[in-house]
Amino acid sequence: MISHGGSRRFAGRNRIGSAVNPGARGGEGVEMGILFENATVITMSKDGDIIRGGSLYVEGETIVDVGGAPRMRMEYGRKAARIVDARRKTILPGFVNAHCHSTQLACRGRAEDVSNWDAVWGIMGSIADAMTPEDAYAASMLAHVEMLKSGITTVVDSGRHMPRAGEAAVDSGIRAFLHVAFRDADPGKVRDGGIYEYVPSIGERGLGEAVALVEKFKGAADGRIDCLMGPHATDVCSPDLLAAARREADRLEVGVTIHLAQNEVEPRQCRAAWGASPGPMMERAGFLGPDFLGAHAIFVEEEDIAALARNGCSVSHNPQINAKRAHIAPAADMMEAGVNVALGTDNMFYDMMEVIKTAGMVWRLRAGDPTQPEPMRILEMATINGARALGIEDRVGTLEPGKVADLIMIDCDRPRYIPSVEENTITNLVHFGSSSDVQLTMVGGRVLVDDFRYVGGSEGDIMDRAQRSGEEVWQRARGEWSRKPGGR
Ligand SMILES: [Zn+2]
Repeated sequence: MISHGGSRRFAGRNRIGSAVNPGARGGEGVEMGILFENATVITMSKDGDIIRGGSLYVEGETIVDVGGAPRMRMEYGRKAARIVDARRKTILPGFVNAHCHSTQLACRGRAEDVSNWDAVWGIMGSIADAMTPEDAYAASMLAHVEMLKSGITTVVDSGRHMPRAGEAAVDSGIRAFLHVAFRDADPGKVRDGGIYEYVPSIGERGLGEAVALVEKFKGAADGRIDCLMGPHATDVCSPDLLAAARREADRLEVGVTIHLAQNEVEPRQCRAAWGASPGPMMERAGFLGPDFLGAHAIFVEEEDIAALARNGCSVSHNPQINAKRAHIAPAADMMEAGVNVALGTDNMFYDMMEVIKTAGMVWRLRAGDPTQPEPMRILEMATINGARALGIEDRVGTLEPGKVADLIMIDCDRPRYIPSVEENTITNLVHFGSSSDVQLTMVGGRVLVDDFRYVGGSEGDIMDRAQRSGEEVWQRARGEWSRKPGGR
């Protein structure tokens, strides 16, 4: 059994968040000295500070100071290369999308009205099979642009052709944790009913690809790109493969992630094959730990939640795609047990403002209680909890001096926020907010969305490329659909 003490967690990882470096120009086109003035600053700090008439000064990639506008103007007004008038705007930490598949943007509109099983093993697989590395790049670039425009500054991303898709993360400017999904269950024999066949050579090949991705991308783009070790799901990975994945994750100093109880078949298969439900099965394999990020956790039971909680684990709750597939994950139960619950979009959705809204609704539908969760708890899930899940909470997830400048500015001078008074700032944002109001997104001090437009590259070209590539992928996949479950 490998131990995963909190003290060694993420040791040596993540080179983001270097000290303030006055006078030096930041890498990757980072603008020097930006002063945001007269904003409502939702810091998401432990004390829950919300500063009205507040200013925030960024230099290089770092938040230098946050405070009242008059003092900040005195101190930084002259130094700032750019002063942003942020009256009637709200500044908050960028969102962390804790579970996503950017390449599957190509499936959009094709896997929306089928079961989870048919989507994953039928349609999305055939579209992924029809994709070339260039298609994966085109889809990922557009997904990243869409995410940045909805206020997402960090994404956990995996999909087909990751070596090429990873380059999209480098090029788009988003902060990313990349991983290759691998398994040792023979994909041709994965069926609902009966025990799958596990083939060690399939697992070894996948693990090899996953290690190669980490070696290529960990620390890329001045530390903006990091990686995870991400075996696919608890039913399609044997305990031996999970143990091997854990060994490699520890050696490479990356966290681990996996799809966890995302459909009804998964716990059934785990019990039949390994005599334990997913949580205890992973615990026995030594796979859980404070750097563990499970995705979905829809069909988790008490024993699974207990295993996650006692190992200090995190879960990406993906309420929007879950609801689309007629599921609601027990996010409240997990949080109550002590699991760190973050938010993810998963695939085809890349809009965190929508996920934030849905998170509150499905929680309330499941609990039959309209008073919980409080809007602030949902914002925490979208920001600091996501950072915690990735072990970067000391660098991103809140707006505090010394932290990396991953932040967004939302234009609240819109009909949907009126009346806007002190008491309803957070409530209005969570219940009525829209990604179309994200006016500015900054990652590591670099402005990537400015005046509501993506400025890290040509948004038009990125859309055109994804459209062309998507048409070709669908054309190639159509033949396959007629032979797959859920195919039409
Ligand atoms: Zn997923």
